[in-house]
Amino acid sequence: MKTEILKLLRESEGYVSGQKLCGKLGVSRTAVWKIINQLKEEGYHVEAVQNRGYRIVDIPDVLSEEELKSLLFGKTRWAGQEIHYFPETDSTNIRAKELGEKGASHGALAVADRQSAGRGRRGRGWESPPGCSIYMSILLRPSFLPSSAPMLTLVMAYSTAEALQECTGQEIRIKWPNDIVLNQKKLVGILTEMSSEIDYINHVVIGVGINVNMDSFSEEIAKTATSLRIETGQVMKRSTLIAEIMKHFERNYDTFLQSGDLSGIREDYNRLLVNCGKEVRILGAKEPYQALALGINDSGELLVRKQDGSEEAVYAGEVSVRGIYGYV
Ligand code: ATP
Repeated sequence: MKTEILKLLRESEGYVSGQKLCGKLGVSRTAVWKIINQLKEEGYHVEAVQNRGYRIVDIPDVLSEEELKSLLFGKTRWAGQEIHYFPETDSTNIRAKELGEKGASHGALAVADRQSAGRGRRGRGWESPPGCSIYMSILLRPSFLPSSAPMLTLVMAYSTAEALQECTGQEIRIKWPNDIVLNQKKLVGILTEMSSEIDYINHVVIGVGINVNMDSFSEEIAKTATSLRIETGQVMKRSTLIAEIMKHFERNYDTFLQSGDLSGIREDYNRLLVNCGKEVRILGAKEPYQALALGINDSGELLVRKQDGSEEAVYAGEVSVRGIYGYV
């Protein structure tokens, strides 16, 4: 019921009368009043005026199941329509995988306020303090072949970049394949994991970690990491960002399904690619080498021109890309 009340208050321009809330939800005035008090305790600024009703004046950065549902229900078809919120968990990717095994629906979303064992690629860690960042993992049940799944990382990177750019007005850029940067520093990390047979995907989990309102980082990553707050000076609402990312992801995923590759978003992705047209160092599979990044192809590989003039498509699997003078 809290979700419905929040949704009604949020979507109405002015006051919503107690009577209307009671009528819509089929409950007593006392029940409504109790929920309003709970919302106030959680930090929502709800104004109550006699003979007019209730009005939300200000919504702080609250992260809860009801808050997320009130922003997502009816706004997407499947992305984030099933929400599982955890004040604290080891890793939202682990929670989403578990949901996958228990039969949760396509698009189910695990969100946490804090992770005790946040993870990056190749067993690396993801700093995940409480109260300030987004840690979320979406569960997908695609019917395409496992070989296509790595492209989903790029679909999520593009969707997240698009949504963050729209919400903040900042020049959000993608660092191929799985990071998002702002002013040359890492703002978002994405980790895609899959459970599959040779020719069948059981499920895919895409985890997204976003530094939203953090004001500092550990010494280890202080030079390469940043947050929206550090760059803009503003505190952002995490729930709004999550909802916007889900809307963008659903749309881009549908575009991806139509062609089975990234052709529908390739041009726009390349426009946001921070590496595009720049000399980069490719680290990983073989000896590190330097090349000019040209942009991604329809399969999400990074096309590069090597110093001898030959062109190569780099597969994301085991490599990292660096600028020649630093992280970007
Ligand atoms: P790279 O960014 O080096 O190409 P990667 O893409 O393989 O590596 P990820 O899996 O995206 O790395 O993220 C893990 C790395 O990100 C960690 O090794 C650490 O250096 C850095 N990191 C950890 N936590 C954060 C954070 N909250 N914000 C920014 N960077 C972080």
